[in-house]
Formats: sequence, C-alpha cells, structure tokens
Amino acid sequence: MRWSFEELKRLETDCPCGEPHHAIPVERLEVGPGALDEAATWIKARFGRVVLVMDEHTRLAAGDALAQRLTDLGVVWTACIVEPNGQGDVVADEASIVQVLIACGPDVEALIAVGSGTLHDIARFASAKMRIPFVSVPTAPSVDGFTSAGAPLIVRGVKTTYQTHAPVAVFADTAVLEQAPKELVWAGFGDVLGKSTSLADWAFGALAAGEPYCSHLASLTREALETAVAEVRGLAEGRPDAIRHLMEALLLSGLVMLLFGQSHPASGGEHHLSHDWEMEFLRSGRRQILHGLKVGVACGVLADLYRSRVEEAVAAAAEAGLAPWASLAGREHEVRAIVASVPPGDRVRALMRQLGAPAEPEDLGIERSLVSSSLKRAHKLRNRYTMLRLLNDTNAI
Ligand SMILES: [Zn+2]
Ligand SMILES: [Zn+2]
Repeated sequence: MRWSFEELKRLETDCPCGEPHHAIPVERLEVGPGALDEAATWIKARFGRVVLVMDEHTRLAAGDALAQRLTDLGVVWTACIVEPNGQGDVVADEASIVQVLIACGPDVEALIAVGSGTLHDIARFASAKMRIPFVSVPTAPSVDGFTSAGAPLIVRGVKTTYQTHAPVAVFADTAVLEQAPKELVWAGFGDVLGKSTSLADWAFGALAAGEPYCSHLASLTREALETAVAEVRGLAEGRPDAIRHLMEALLLSGLVMLLFGQSHPASGGEHHLSHDWEMEFLRSGRRQILHGLKVGVACGVLADLYRSRVEEAVAAAAEAGLAPWASLAGREHEVRAIVASVPPGDRVRALMRQLGAPAEPEDLGIERSLVSSSLKRAHKLRNRYTMLRLLNDTNAI
C-alpha cells in the first residue's frame, strides 16, 4: 500500500493543518491476497454468530469461500441472499432492508457485507438499526463508499442518505477483486476520477464561502486520484496490480471522508449531477446505472463548464455584489488556480474511453435534455458552495 492505515489514523489528532479530525472507527483494514482468510480469523476472534449479506453473484465471488472458512473455524453463520427487484437490480430499498432484518435471529452479533456498494449500504443500515457492528468484504473496486457512515437508501422511490455507521473492519481480497466484472472496475475508476471536480469544488467553497477545508486531506484525496489515473492502462488490461491500486485509492478516498467527517473531499458538483440523474431514472422506472459511471461522465460535463465559465461568472457576481460570491473580488488569481486544477473535459472523457468505459451522457442513455435540466437543479441537492451553484446563481447555465 502506498499509504499506511496507521498514518491515516494518526491524522485523527495530529494533522499538519493543526485541527483535530474525526475518528476513523475502522479497527482493521486488509487489502491483498488472503484477506478472506484474515477476515475469517478476525471474525472468529470477535463474534460467535454472524449473518452474511450478499446477492447471488457475490455469494459465488466470495461469500461461499468466506462461509467455508467460518465453518472451519466454528463460527455459526447464516446467509441472507438479497433478491433483485423487478428490473433485475439489487437495490438498497425498504424491501432489501426488511429481507435482511427477517434473516437475522435475536442473537446475531454482526453482519458481514459481502459485495459491492449496494450490499454494503443494506448491511450498514440494517446493522445500525440492530445496534450491532458490520464487517466489510468488498468484492469489486467499484466505489469509495465502503467505509462510509452514510447509507443512501431508496424508500418509496425517493433516495435519502441516512447517517448510520462505518464498518468495524474491511477485508478486500485481491484474488476476489481481480475477478470483478469490468463494468464495476470502470465505475470505481469513474468515482475516483470525479475527484478532479470535487477537489476543485471543495477548494472553491472554502475560498468563496469559508466552508471547512484541510489542505492535507485534499492532498491525500488527490493522491488517490493520481494513483487511479496512473493505472488506467493496467486497468484496461485487467492487470492485478492495477486493480489493487484502484482499490487502495478508493479506500484512501473513503477514509479521508471519515477523517473529515463530511463528504466535501470526495463529492462535489459531479456527485450532485449524478444523484439528480439517479432520481430521474427512479422516477421514470429505468434501470439504474452504476454510481461511478455516472460520476465519471458527470465529471467530464462539469469540467467543460468550470473551465469555460467560472471566471466570467465570478466577475459577474462581484459586479452585482452577489453574496457570497462577491467576496471573491480581488481573489481572481486564486479562482484561476482552482479552475486550472480541473482537467479539460476531453481529458476526462479520454481516460474513461481508454478503459473502454462510457464517457458521454449519451453512452449511459442520458439524453442532453436531462443533462440540461439537471445542471439547473442539481446544486440544490446539497447546501454546498460549488462552482455549479455559482453558475446557477449567476444565470451562467
Ligand atoms: Zn487536517
Ligand atoms: Zn462517489
């Protein structure tokens, strides 16, 4: 690993920025071959009875293998195979949550999430409601939210994120990750690539509106971004070391969010755009698109807008005395540096294409009219001072 879990933990109390950060509740983090063995041994030392939360695919990818190891060690386990919905997707909704709750007897001591982001969100929410811990066993490098404390759920068709808890331990077995479907690898890459705009939005919100900021945590998230980008060729070829580095980048990004206590480092306008597309797909009953694919594509869309329109919008806001943006008057060089840190949209799309992944909204079945309407409302999803919000406030979109 290029970064150390212990070093990250030290930042809880000892960050170069001088401010205390939040505690990382994750006690153990393993990435590598043999992590499933480590998971079984660790679970055995902590719990006598667990429920494995998985779906039919992740059961084959890792669930059966983990279950066998638990049996060998004498841990009592049961399986909860979360069923797909009518469209064939496993989703984190009320039906999946209830299915897990029903599968859990009164004496279950922990849930083990075996799968990608959605199964983690289901196990995260259910375990928090049961006041028991959950253990993360990712089966694909698909998202940076494995260690998140928030569980985005779809309840009665509306997506809301509930604050729950982070896993007590993460065991990412690279032998499992290497077998992940390529779409999930693309999604993980897209989620990290989205940091190109989220980091810029974070710096911009701090400059324009005094949003909380830590340059050390920003540099760690940038390290995650650069690690993934440096591996694009290896990822396209499915090389094991590249897959491992992508997973480490995703975990680093997720742990930085835990330290910061909010999602600013890893979620800016591109995530808001992606959430808006997701809600529109829910409303119209369309099949869901992987989170990271939407984020990667949204990042390209915003990169074009940010590079071409933000400086002008800042000048317009200053002239109109529009709060809080007018405070940027006289700080144009800092704005320029932030805008310059955003890669050109063509570069973002080229990286996605190099993988073979979708790069444009149309590639995801997202029509231009939806892109236009989303750009005008996505900034309202979160109370953040992103450049997307500035462009809306100044009618530059
Ligand atoms: Zn700091
Ligand atoms: Zn994300």
